[in-house]
Amino acid sequence: MVIAIDGPAGAGKSSVARGVASALGFKYLDSGAMYRSVALAALEQRRTPAEVAPGLRIELAERVLLDGRDVSGAIRAPAVSEAASRAAADPTVREAMVAEQRRLLSQGDWVAEGRDIGTVVAPGAELKLFLSASAAERARRRAAELGVSQATVLAEQAIRDARDRGRAHSPLRPAPGAVVLDTTELALETVVERIVAMAEKLRR
Ligand code: C5P
Repeated sequence: MVIAIDGPAGAGKSSVARGVASALGFKYLDSGAMYRSVALAALEQRRTPAEVAPGLRIELAERVLLDGRDVSGAIRAPAVSEAASRAAADPTVREAMVAEQRRLLSQGDWVAEGRDIGTVVAPGAELKLFLSASAAERARRRAAELGVSQATVLAEQAIRDARDRGRAHSPLRPAPGAVVLDTTELALETVVERIVAMAEKLRR
């Protein structure tokens, strides 16, 4: 079974996806970590994301490995977040990442999170969720996570959101048939429980 979880930055996708995967014993795919890794490699090599993407070896497990090097911390830097959102608008980059994501999802049970999992990567996923939350709440969560001011996060988030929603290729939007969940007022555990209940109903 594949559970697709999409939504904007700070909607709680990563924590929710990890929680659901752990509760169900499924594997967890963080597709954003792949776009972040491409962006980091491009910045480091001073080449374009499209030039570096096809040849990169990105391994996702407990840690994120880029050509064998642990980049789990480096890919979360604000400069990489910004570069990842720009890299993700490039069709050559998306093509390479989507092919790898589909290869991974073709075997076993997965919870996959990103922006286009339900719309492009796995439109046949048995369960699709679109998580949202108010912009202020999403910025509050990110600021707490990163230890920076909410105002800074809010401004950067607005730019990334607009780019993710407005791009020509795979723009961020709920997939047909996706369950839209507004998490603004919901605790993490509540969101996880609801999704696990939906998945268990489908498995029965
Ligand atoms: O989810 P995360 O914030 O780590 O993703 C980083 C960037 O990668 C996003 O801003 C988005 O532009 C891009 N992304 C994407 N498609 C995905 C996952 C992430 O375009 N499936």
